[in-house]
Amino acid sequence: MALQLASYALTIAIVLGSLLPDTALAALRVVATTPDVADMARQIGGDRVEVVTIAEGSQDPHKVPVKPSFVTKLNRADALVVQGLGLEHAFLPALLEAARNPRIAPGAPAYIDSSLYIEPLEVPSSTSRTQGELHPLGNPHFNLDPVQGKLMARAIAEGLERVDPGGATAYRDGLARFTAQLDEKIPQWTAQAAPLRGVKAVSYHQDMIYFARRFGIDLDGTIETKPGVPATAGHIEELIGTMKRDDVKLVIREVAYEMPLAETVANKTGARVATVAAMTGGLPGADTYVAFVQANLDAVLAALPASGK
Ligand SMILES: [Zn+2]
Repeated sequence: MALQLASYALTIAIVLGSLLPDTALAALRVVATTPDVADMARQIGGDRVEVVTIAEGSQDPHKVPVKPSFVTKLNRADALVVQGLGLEHAFLPALLEAARNPRIAPGAPAYIDSSLYIEPLEVPSSTSRTQGELHPLGNPHFNLDPVQGKLMARAIAEGLERVDPGGATAYRDGLARFTAQLDEKIPQWTAQAAPLRGVKAVSYHQDMIYFARRFGIDLDGTIETKPGVPATAGHIEELIGTMKRDDVKLVIREVAYEMPLAETVANKTGARVATVAAMTGGLPGADTYVAFVQANLDAVLAALPASGK
C-alpha cells in the first residue's frame, strides 16, 4: 500500500514537472565581464543563475584579449553583468557588436551595470584627457573598496530581479546575505588596516584610489606616466625624486604589471613592493570578492616595515 502511494505521488510529481514551463527549470544564463561581478552574481543569484566570466583576475582589465568563444556565450545570454564606468572598453564593445544580442545591449534591461550607485572619483573636468586614455569617465577601479562592493551588489541584485522578476525574493535574500557578509568584514578590515593610516605609497597603475581612501593610504604618484601610458625614463627619475623627498617606502604593484620596474623603483628609494590584484582571483586563493579584499589588505600590510611607519 505504502509503495503504491509512493509510486502514485511520483507519477503526479512527474506530470506536474512536465507541465512547468522550461524557464522555471533552466537557470538564467549570465555573462559577467569580471570575476568580481561574477562572484557577486553567483552569491546573489544562487541556483537561479549560471554565470560565466570573461576576464581573468590576474589580467589587466584594460587589456583583456577578445576571444571569439565569448561571442556565442553573449549571443545566448539572458543577462550581462558589467563593472562599468568604461572598465571593459578593451573587449566588451567588440564582443557585444559581434554577439548581436539586443537584450544585453547597453541600456537594455538585461545590461546590468554594477557602477549604477557608485560616485566616481577623478572624473575629468573636460575632454583634456589628463587622466590618459583609459579612465575617460572617471576612475573605474572602485571594486577594490568593499564599501563600493556593497553598492555594486545592490545594482546587480536589482538587475537580476529586473530580468527575472519571479526570483525577486531569492535575489533580495541573496543580496541581504552578501551585504551582511561585507557588513561584518568591513569593521574588521578597517581595524586591521589601522597601521596603513597616513602611510605614503605609489602604485603602478592609478587603480588604488578607492582602496587608499577607504584604508587611509596617502598616494603619491604612479609608475605609469598616466593610466595606460607607459613609464618614461624621465618620469621614473621624477617619481624617485618625489619618493625620496616625501619618504615614500611602499610601492604597490598590481599583479598584471611588470615586477622588475616596480623593484627598480623600490630599490632606488629603499621602499618595499606589495603585489595586489585589481580583480577578484588575481592573487592565489582569493577567488571570492571577500577573499580578494582580504588578500590585497594582507599584501599591503605585509610590505610595511616591521617597526610600523
Ligand atoms: Zn585603470
